[in-house]
Amino acid sequence: MITFSPGPSKVYDQVAEYLQDAFNQGILSANHRSATFMNLYQETETLIKEKLHVPEDYKLLFTSSATENWEIIAQSIVERASYHIYSGSFGKKWLSFASHLNPETESLKLDTETALDVASLDIDEKFDLIAITQNETSNATEVSNELIAELGQKYPNKMIAVDTTSSMAGIELDFTLADIWYASVQKCFGLPAGLGILILSPKAIEKCNHKGEAGRYNSLSFILENAANYQTHYTPNVLGIYLLKRSLEDRPEIQETDHLLRERMRILENTIAQSEKLMMLVQNPETRSKTVMGISGKEEFIKEIKAEAEKAGMQMGSGYGPLKPTSFRIANFPAISDAEFDKLIKFLKEY
Ligand SMILES: *Cc1c(COP(=O)(O)O)cnc(C)c1O
Repeated sequence: MITFSPGPSKVYDQVAEYLQDAFNQGILSANHRSATFMNLYQETETLIKEKLHVPEDYKLLFTSSATENWEIIAQSIVERASYHIYSGSFGKKWLSFASHLNPETESLKLDTETALDVASLDIDEKFDLIAITQNETSNATEVSNELIAELGQKYPNKMIAVDTTSSMAGIELDFTLADIWYASVQKCFGLPAGLGILILSPKAIEKCNHKGEAGRYNSLSFILENAANYQTHYTPNVLGIYLLKRSLEDRPEIQETDHLLRERMRILENTIAQSEKLMMLVQNPETRSKTVMGISGKEEFIKEIKAEAEKAGMQMGSGYGPLKPTSFRIANFPAISDAEFDKLIKFLKEY
């Protein structure tokens, strides 16, 4: 069975080999204060910078999930309140965690068919951070690099934090456009769940130092203090970090993956456009995600096509949250091979 679920998603086929190597090399018992671990951390950071084009002076941190990153940002970086621009369930969850910690948190809910209009935004002085979900996995929408750039130009004194959980390592992101970026590895990285990634610019680190929040198990100050020596503040997911390193070594540079995914998405879009039965969840190409396709329909139809796909050996991703009964999702993630993708297209064409 091939899974096209957008998280947890299909892992790279080579993971079997990486796992065996991890065992054989004794990495599973490596102490996280040892040179072995410190080298692993440093090499992984170097690879992330090389392969994903992250600026040299940014810092890679390891957490347990994207969900934890929501809380870390609200707890350790936001000084007064954050302003959340979102359209779907994941953006809404981030807003909810932030509101719990910072009562003055506010938000703007976007329509899935309308691209963010930066010119019309009026974000108050009191908000020191803008939170944006670049790829909203729940409703298959995205916010482009260009719009993130516009946002930064309009609000140079506010920090921008970007949720790229289901796009980092899939599409090319311009990391210079914002100071806080994060993901978790069970989406476009094609690895087993249980590891969160947080990438910070020097400005974001400075803001954390300025706030001075400390004392919690996941206070960013504590994480950074350890990361300065390529260590972590608790016994980390060493296996997850090892798999990330091995996988990054085998991946091409991000522009190549970006090109492949955009090309595949174009084929998927054409297939759906030509079908009489299938309808895209998002009509506007400007807001439509490049890594997750949503297909909408009546409840009966969704049930039927998912069952037919399973019979053909393919598991579709269910709709998320309120969209569960009336949609399904297809991950266009890099770990899905071209042969698997072709099988999907053939199924959709014949359906
Ligand atoms: C999956 C996802 C999350 C949550 O990731 P976890 O690793 O489960 O915490 C957050 N944001 C987006 C956009 C996601 O797709």
